[in-house]
Amino acid sequence: MSDTLPIRPHRIAMHADDNVAIVANDGGLPAGTVFADGLTLRDKVPQGHKLSLVDIAQGAPVRRYNVVIGTALRDIPAGSWVHERLLQMPQARSLEGLPMATAGAQPLPPLDGHTFEGFRNADGSVGTRNILAITTTVQCVAGVVDFAVRRIKDELLPRFPNVDDVVGLEHGYGCGVAIDAPDAVIPIRTLRNISLNPNFGGEVMVVSLGCEKLQPERLLPSGVIPIRDQRGEPEQPLDVVCLQDAGHVGFMSMIDSIVRQAQLHLERLNRRTRQTCPASDLVVGVQCGGSDAFSGVTANPAVGFATDLLVRAGATVMFSEVTEVRDGIDQLTARAVNPEVAQAMVREMDWYDRYLERGQVDRSANTTPGNKAGGLSNIVEKAMGSIIKSGSVPIVGVVPPGERATQKGLLYAATPASDFICGTLQLAAGMNLHIFTTGRGTPYGLAPVPVIKVATRSDLARRWHDLMDLDAGRIATGEMTIEQMGWELFRLMLDVASGKKKTWAEHWKLHNALVLFNPAPVT
Ligand code: CA
Repeated sequence: MSDTLPIRPHRIAMHADDNVAIVANDGGLPAGTVFADGLTLRDKVPQGHKLSLVDIAQGAPVRRYNVVIGTALRDIPAGSWVHERLLQMPQARSLEGLPMATAGAQPLPPLDGHTFEGFRNADGSVGTRNILAITTTVQCVAGVVDFAVRRIKDELLPRFPNVDDVVGLEHGYGCGVAIDAPDAVIPIRTLRNISLNPNFGGEVMVVSLGCEKLQPERLLPSGVIPIRDQRGEPEQPLDVVCLQDAGHVGFMSMIDSIVRQAQLHLERLNRRTRQTCPASDLVVGVQCGGSDAFSGVTANPAVGFATDLLVRAGATVMFSEVTEVRDGIDQLTARAVNPEVAQAMVREMDWYDRYLERGQVDRSANTTPGNKAGGLSNIVEKAMGSIIKSGSVPIVGVVPPGERATQKGLLYAATPASDFICGTLQLAAGMNLHIFTTGRGTPYGLAPVPVIKVATRSDLARRWHDLMDLDAGRIATGEMTIEQMGWELFRLMLDVASGKKKTWAEHWKLHNALVLFNPAPVT
């Protein structure tokens, strides 16, 4: 499209008080480029990278998003390429003396009349897909479960047209771990709550080895399968296939047991049908990965607009990624709906600060070589672009890692920024739809939920035309406003949630591994 648009130098500043802007043009701009206002580039500046709008003296603050993203390490004349080596990163904001629930944000007007077609569960939760999940207690069984899943898909699934997929919930946990360490509660409850994700319809079946530390009854104690209990049926004993059972003679006998049990669950899942549900039944997890300087200009602001739409419609939206919000903690505690929620946010940040300290790093360990190549100088700049995904509504709750979200509205789900760990924890929180923005490009996908991927730049959307679901780069080119893109994403979410549209990750069956967050020791 850049061939057909008039080629004119285009830069984007995020706030009137910023003293840097980013170059929007594909391929960047050469030294000597003159902008419409007369500003002349002294250096070649790559796309997405910053240029100085005014002379910035050594030691002076460099502002983007109206936030100090660093101080100048030397004099930077107007029109220079402001790359990471010219910036001193600011100290992390102390967790003392933060503004607590001071923003007093007015709730936005309700948004009525938006629906999707979903699978309603007995506990009131709603699935966007109808999937048989096979829970595993330990990595030892993963190969056997893979084999069984292939056979179930080949032999059984075609007979159950209302069931979308069969997924083995495989992971690296379960044995060789200090299971009584206090922090072991995180991976265990994560696995438990993933088994209860709304997309699995309460049909929990478990494959266990037998001798592992994470015994099935510890993973899923009696009474924790609420989806089935509320059907009014008597509570069923936990359905466990144990590979070390003396009754299993040979590998095929294990496979036959798993396939036989799977059939019972498939029969029940197949009776589920989609029904019209209000948009308030969506539980959307938003995250970004492979970010660039456009993430905070195009895709993330559009996601933020859609977040506001979803919350106005009564839905649940979770944003996460602790190291990418840490530098904006004062904005977030201010936006908390009450001091208790602000305090819960501080508690999660403080826990993570100390977790990083134990590893002798801080939040600046977050940025990747690709982030920097994409124009993000440091974690402060990355964080400001990441937080925008949370829109403008008040933050009404905090979900500790691995716990299930129980509230409507905007929630901070405390997770690391690692794409797979964040996605895994948002699945545990009950996410039934996932939004993922990327600037550098990642083929990310999860088997249990549809993942809508939003490209920050049109160049990426063109090259990865069969991996990216939405091109938010059209905001940078001026073809669409943030509001228009936010509405397009909102409508796409309803279509994908309804099963009317499949995401590219679903089309190609691109599924990243579940990666549990285990801050406890291994043995
Ligand atoms: Ca991420």
